[in-house]
Amino acid sequence: MKKIDDKRKQINNIVSVVKLASLLFSGMGIFNFIINKYNITRENLNYTLTMWMIIFSILILILIYAIWAFSTAYKFNEKYVDRIQVIENLFFVCIFFVVLFLTGVHESEFKFLFLFIIITSTIQVGMEHGMLIATISSVIILIMDLFYGTTTGKNIYFEKDLIIVGIFILTSWTLGLYVNIESEYIERLQSLANKDGLTEVYNHRFFQDALKTSIKLCEDNKESISLIFIDIDYFKHYNDLYGHQKGDEVLKNIGAILRSSVRKEDIVARYGGEEFAIILPNTLEKDAIAIAERIRLKIENTYFEGEENQPNGKLTASIGISIFPDKADCDVELIKSADDALYRAKFFNRNRVEAYYSILDELKKDIKDKDTEEKDIEIITSIKTLISVINAKDKYTYGHIERVVIYSKLLGDKLGLKKEDKKNLRYGAYMHDIGKISILEDILNKKMKLTNEEWEILKQHPMNGVEIIKPVEALNGITDLILHHHERYDGQGYPSGLKGKDIPYLARILTVVDSFDAMTSNRPYSIRKTHDEAIEELKRCKGTQFDPEITDAFIDIITKNKDITYL
Ligand code: GH3
Ligand code: MG
Ligand code: MG
Repeated sequence: MKKIDDKRKQINNIVSVVKLASLLFSGMGIFNFIINKYNITRENLNYTLTMWMIIFSILILILIYAIWAFSTAYKFNEKYVDRIQVIENLFFVCIFFVVLFLTGVHESEFKFLFLFIIITSTIQVGMEHGMLIATISSVIILIMDLFYGTTTGKNIYFEKDLIIVGIFILTSWTLGLYVNIESEYIERLQSLANKDGLTEVYNHRFFQDALKTSIKLCEDNKESISLIFIDIDYFKHYNDLYGHQKGDEVLKNIGAILRSSVRKEDIVARYGGEEFAIILPNTLEKDAIAIAERIRLKIENTYFEGEENQPNGKLTASIGISIFPDKADCDVELIKSADDALYRAKFFNRNRVEAYYSILDELKKDIKDKDTEEKDIEIITSIKTLISVINAKDKYTYGHIERVVIYSKLLGDKLGLKKEDKKNLRYGAYMHDIGKISILEDILNKKMKLTNEEWEILKQHPMNGVEIIKPVEALNGITDLILHHHERYDGQGYPSGLKGKDIPYLARILTVVDSFDAMTSNRPYSIRKTHDEAIEELKRCKGTQFDPEITDAFIDIITKNKDITYL
């Protein structure tokens, strides 16, 4: 892209030099006219006339400079460049027309001036435009000949100028052909370099460049830009059943569906194997959601050969959406957040559209609304960093936090919590393991049974967590939750050994959710259980480890949403 832009700039510079030269020739024509008109010779050159000549030359030079600056610095919006070039070329035609008029009309020796603008306009805009300028120039010259050439006898000017007209037309035609061939060639090369061969949408590299450029443009225009990520559901399954070739057919069809579902200015790209991305410039989130939903339905309703053997009976896709600058402040974050949203769509049983949402952003907004101190916002931001450090350190918790938040949300709704409690439960779910930051990676990932000493260290994480969030006033409501999320209903838990209803209600909820996710994901010390096995385990520990009522409500949710699966 950059190379092609550079080339365009170079051509523009050359063209500008030619235009400048043509203006200098025009200037010479005008001087010629003045000298003839006032019959100036070396002897009769007087003072006032000299002054006029100097002023006139300065004006001409200023004009020349203005046009030079104008034509070299195309800082206009791409949309207007073509129109500006057309206007500029017509302006040149007018100047040459005036020069011709002043320098003897049909007898003028400056008819060649038109050739300059015919050449430059053909190079810059293309054959059609060049031919138009050539025709206008020819008509001007021939009409002048007809009107001002001899009224009696042979009009030799007209006959001579037919040759010039021929040269004009031939020049614009041949040069135009060359320019067209060249630009078609560049377009083909560009398409080869930027498009994905199989699906005919843009490739990953082009996508990355385009996203950066679009973000910059939207920043300048103060607009929003939406990003949609699409991932085919159970595609590995489809490939395994029918082979990669049939899989490729599906990719091709989906590429076509995507291309036909968006506007001209949107960019559809193949982000990875079976993942697609769409950049939607100047698009608000609600519009992006509507577009994504339309795409999801289209894929769902399109028949793909053999789709009936897919796990959910048809071939579908999950879609994630994020938006700049509302939910991300650079291209990397925009991609990450759209990917996060996609992950959530997969989590919620696939064939679904999800927009990015972050508890932390919600919390930040909350704090801002309450007009709290700047330092609280800083701490919240560092909590985000801490959580990503924990995720990196403890490879078994990857996705755990996200899932615990989602389960907590479902359970909070089911138990009919108050708004404030629901919010605290969400925040608590998000931060419950934050105290693990100070625990050694070796302990977190240890495959063998922990020694007593190591257990003692691990058991400190609720207390460590409380220490971390203590300075943030806005998080005071969740300290109890973090501190007591490892208490047991029978009083055998830690750190305080609280029993039954003495354990804060929200902490009891979090314990159930957290434990269920621990059971169903891979842990260093145990193999993960299936949903049914985990439900059995919950039932077994109801009343000893877990609050019975909460456990029942949660089992109900899990049984109803049995198909919430994750890998
Ligand atoms: P999920 O619903 O979680 O997305 O399940 P999935 O099976 O689609 O899982 P995942 O996204 O991890 O699998 C990607 C699969 O896409 C793996 C591979 O078989 C298939 N794939 C990737 N690139 C290509 C390709 O170029 N052609 C074909 N035919 N298949 C591809
Ligand atoms: Mg995938
Ligand atoms: Mg997939």
